[in-house]
Parts: sequence; structure tokens; C-alpha cells
Amino acid sequence: MLRLQTSLNRRGFPCPRCARTFHTSGGMSRHYRLECVDLPRFKCPHCDMRSKYTQAIYRHIRAKHRNMELRFVKLY
Ligand SMILES: [Zn+2]
Ligand SMILES: [Zn+2]
Repeated sequence: MLRLQTSLNRRGFPCPRCARTFHTSGGMSRHYRLECVDLPRFKCPHCDMRSKYTQAIYRHIRAKHRNMELRFVKLY
């Protein structure tokens, strides 16, 4: 029983939406309710601009980084 509990604790509490893990269930549910929806998943490779949508990254690169490579960085 003790061993089972230890392995459960080490696994932590994964967010069902983005699969990030948290040490406490409270931390996970707070993240799920407050942060998760608004977390940008994509980033401009040429500056620190972030967005939830790849199309916004492409549009941003076309506007701000003319002649730069049209791609995005996946944050997680
Ligand atoms: Zn999440
Ligand atoms: Zn940029």
C-alpha cells in the first residue's frame, strides 16, 4: 500500500487539457480553471510573441519579420 501511494505521488496531478503535471491537486485544478485555457501554445521563433493559434504567428511574422522564415515554435 505504501509503495502504491509513493508512485502515485511521484506521478503528480496531470492537467487533462494540456498534460502538464502538478505537485498538488489544488495546483492542478487552479491551473485548469484559470490558466490552461489562455496559455499560448505557439511562439514566434524570431521574438517573444506568443499565441494560441499558428495562423496568428504566421500573420505576425509576415507583418513584423519580413523575409524571415515562416514557422512557429511549439511550446508544449
Ligand atoms: Zn492545462
Ligand atoms: Zn516575432
